Formats: sequence, C-alpha cells, structure tokens
Amino acid sequence: MIIVMGSEVTDEEVNAVVKKVEAAGLKANISRGIERTVIGAIGDERKLTTEMFTSLRGVESAMHIAKQYKIVSRESHKQSTVIDIAGVPLGGNQIQIIAGPCSVETQEQMDLSAQFVHEAGCRLMRGGAFKPRTSPYAFQGHGAEGLDMFRKAASKYNLPIVTELMDARQIDVFLEYDVDVIQIGTRNMQNFDLLKEVGRTNKPVILKRGMSATISEWLMAAEYIAAGGNHNIIFCERGVRTFETAYRNVLDVTAIPVLKKETHLPVIVDPSHAGGKAWMVPALSQAAIAAGADGLLVEMHPSPCDAWCDADQALTPQELKKLMGTLGAIAGAIGRTL
Ligand code: PEP
Ligand code: MN
Repeated sequence: MIIVMGSEVTDEEVNAVVKKVEAAGLKANISRGIERTVIGAIGDERKLTTEMFTSLRGVESAMHIAKQYKIVSRESHKQSTVIDIAGVPLGGNQIQIIAGPCSVETQEQMDLSAQFVHEAGCRLMRGGAFKPRTSPYAFQGHGAEGLDMFRKAASKYNLPIVTELMDARQIDVFLEYDVDVIQIGTRNMQNFDLLKEVGRTNKPVILKRGMSATISEWLMAAEYIAAGGNHNIIFCERGVRTFETAYRNVLDVTAIPVLKKETHLPVIVDPSHAGGKAWMVPALSQAAIAAGADGLLVEMHPSPCDAWCDADQALTPQELKKLMGTLGAIAGAIGRTL
C-alpha cells in the first residue's frame, strides 16, 4: 500500500503512520520529496485498509497496490481454467451456448424447450424455478416442483441444467435434484452470505454481474465463493443499468477482454437480459463471441408470446437454431469452435 502525506506533514504525523504499518506486521519505507512524503507499506497488505490511514492526521490519500482478489486472479493462475459441467467443458476452445426459457412453467413447455435446445446444437440448458421478480405479485416460479420438471425434461437429452439460487435455504433441494450449475442472479451478486454458502459446495456457479457493479466489485464477489473452496466460477456479463431507454440494460462488451485479462475463470454473456428484446439478441451474441466470451446464456421459449416471464426477449426455437449457425462462423474466425 502507498500512503501519501500532505506537504506540511510533521515528523509526528509520519511516525503515527509508520507505527500503524509496523503494528500490522509490515515494513514502512519513507520517501521524502519536496512536495510530498510517500510511505510504502511493504508486506501482506491484505491486513491493511485505506481507512486505517486516511483517518490519520496529515494523510492525503492511501491506495492498495496489490489486487484485493487472489484466487480468481490471473496473476495467481496464468492458465485459463476449463470448468467441467457434467462432462461439458466451459472455458476451453469450444464455446458453449446455454439456452432455455426464463422460467420453468409446465412439464410440456420444458419438454419442448429441451428438445429445441438439443436440436439447435446447444449442450446446456437454462430455466428458472425460483424467480427474482420485481413485483411480489408476479409469478415467483414453481420452486422445487420446477426443478423436478426441469430435471425430467433435460435428462431426456442429457443436458446439464443451469438454474438460479436465491436463498441459501434452497441449497439442499438444489443438491437433491443435482442441479449442475447454480446461477447467482444480478440482484444477489453481493449477497455475501449466499456467496459464502455456494462457496461451500462443489457445484459450478454462474455469477452474474450486479446491475450496477464495477468489475472489481464483481471480482471480489467471486473471491467470496472461491475463498470457501469452490473455484468453479463462471462470470456472466448481463448488461448494466443505463440512462438509455431503448434497451433494458447496456451490454458491457468491454468487460469481456478486461475480465479475461484479470481472471483465469470463464466469462460468458447473457444477451437476453442485456437487450431485453429478442431482435437484439443475435447482434449482441455475435459481438460477445467476437470479443472473446467463452459462452452465452440465452433465453428461448417454444412460444415466446405465451411466456410467463421475459416474453419480449425470448428467441423462438427457429431463431435459436439460426443464431447457432451464425455463431459457428464467428467462432471459426477467432480460432474457436462451437
Ligand atoms: C435470469 O437469468 O432469468 C435472470 C433473472 O437474470 P438476471 O439476474 O441477470 O436479471
Ligand atoms: Mn429472464
């Protein structure tokens, strides 16, 4: 950490900073300039917070120089991590498209969805049984019964299932139905107790970006999961809040290369919740793959106009199939496969 002292700093003020650095078990290196005195704290700076110093007299600013996230950082693990999702690799050369409806509605809807996901050539399926709805009066999902329908439909095509977990009390039922990937939604990205609990499982976790989270907050949220022992984490960019009203969220394509540089873990993109309209999904999907995403999480419904949730953004089965065709060419152009 670097602590910058003001121009008229006294020896007493410098000594107070040095004492605090040493008390935490680090060494202090004082560099006196004409305008500023800078103190470098050398050692394990995770023991220090900037507030420990900015509250002292004479201190102008304090900043960390080491990353606050360790396990998830590429610095600690140079090689890209490939996560094995019930036999399907995510994070390697092959791009994975996870498709399915926003929510689990009926057994028939899930059976048809599984068939269309499989026919489009996707190897993983999504569907929400516990839904985080803005209105408490909107359909909240079928809960455990929904997991049952999902599992039954997906197992016919051997599709691993991805579904959202909202509350740690539901973990047992997720394990009971052997959910293959636990999705943490945008609204829970910083639900630290929930993150700690999924960190105790060994299930792959899709961690969606909080709708107004910075990349470093997102990485720190992932570190919560990793610190508990579960390193099977997949980042999912799903758009962030914007002043623009023409689309639901703004897809932060820049986050893809930034994350790929910062972390060794896979990065996927959800073009459906970003755009909020089905017609935008192909363009956003193509941009995501071209920018280096390892996969997509796409909403598809057998009959979008009948969807109980997020009807506007669901692709038809035919649109999903067509999209898969165009993505193969983009994957090939950047040396990857679909
Ligand atoms: C979802 O994937 O259905 C969902 C609710 O997404 P988000 O958390 O990104 O809004
Ligand atoms: Mn949705």
